[in-house]
Amino acid sequence: MPTTLVTGATGFLAGHCVDQLLKDGHTVIGTVRNPSKAERLAEAFKSEVESGKLELETLKDIQNEDEFEAIFKKHPEIDYILHTASPLSFNVTDPEKDMLQPAIRGTTAVLKQAKAHAPNVKKVVITSSIAAMMNPDPSHVHNEHSWNPMTREQAAQKGNPVANYVGSKIFAEKAGLEFLNDEKPNFSITWINPAYILGPGITLDLGAINASNQLISSVLESKLGEEVKVQSGSFVDVRDCARAHVVALQPKFDRKRLMLCTAKVCTQDIEDICNKIPELKGKIAVGTPGEREKQLSKSIMDPSETKKLLDFEWIPLDKSVTDFAKQWLEIKQ
Ligand code: NAP
Repeated sequence: MPTTLVTGATGFLAGHCVDQLLKDGHTVIGTVRNPSKAERLAEAFKSEVESGKLELETLKDIQNEDEFEAIFKKHPEIDYILHTASPLSFNVTDPEKDMLQPAIRGTTAVLKQAKAHAPNVKKVVITSSIAAMMNPDPSHVHNEHSWNPMTREQAAQKGNPVANYVGSKIFAEKAGLEFLNDEKPNFSITWINPAYILGPGITLDLGAINASNQLISSVLESKLGEEVKVQSGSFVDVRDCARAHVVALQPKFDRKRLMLCTAKVCTQDIEDICNKIPELKGKIAVGTPGEREKQLSKSIMDPSETKKLLDFEWIPLDKSVTDFAKQWLEIKQ
């Protein structure tokens, strides 16, 4: 069975990637930088850690090529890489240092060192984002071939953490493509471009809920009568997103971008779903039921190429939200 490296293994999405790889029989090496998060992850996969099916390796900074070199030299058996690690926080002081460089250099570091020291690697799956595909033209039909036209200068704009994050995903994706074209490594790349990733965590720390699930937690934390800030976009369940990363290891996905967007979502949808959960009904914000159409994003999304290629039964929004809410409630009680 193959050995697969997962970067940023303590992340929300990566936890599910580790879970699904282990269930598919892979031996998994996960890179971690935060000891207490690593401990929590090791506890969640206790028997796999004990049996050696899951090994955690410290990688303090994804930009550090020496750290990657050491990991690849220690594990020359690695067959596949899921590169999920990238900064996802809107607390940005220095756009280059906090967001753009770790995303871009982190991508080139893993690719460069894999080419140099990991002779068995056949595929690198890189987590990009639907943000790298979004076009401000309201008539644009977004699909697997769309590119966000943001410039490198716009991406580095101070005081605009959303642009910094979006830019980090665009230019990291482009750096990977450039590497593939210029360096012609023995492996190929597949990019996964998810919309908001929602759903339960393998581990969940209520003090550090990942950016996308805050769409749900903002409703869970609200009080009856309060107004929750409206957000809208598209979503994919975290388990489908992880499944796509694993399926994408197959050669038929070489060089493809998979656009993961199950359906549109807005705050009103989350309020409607959460208000059907008996423990929450009558205690949290209700929004304006029936007004979801007003909140929904007007962007035209066409992920039909990906849906045909993946042929998944996509997890619907009510399951993603309910499963997260139940996990949140269990910890809260
Ligand atoms: P997450 O929980 O914040 O995971 C990110 C992971 O990257 C964490 O493990 C983090 O380590 C690690 N990391 C960040 N910067 C690092 C650095 N400089 N050096 C080493 N490790 C670093 O976020 P997520 O939601 O799972 O996101 C995973 C991937 O999906 C990211 O590439 C993100 O851009 C992409 N994505 C996410 C969404 C979404 O809605 N969540 C949508 C589209 C794309 P720590 O655990 O120590 O913080």
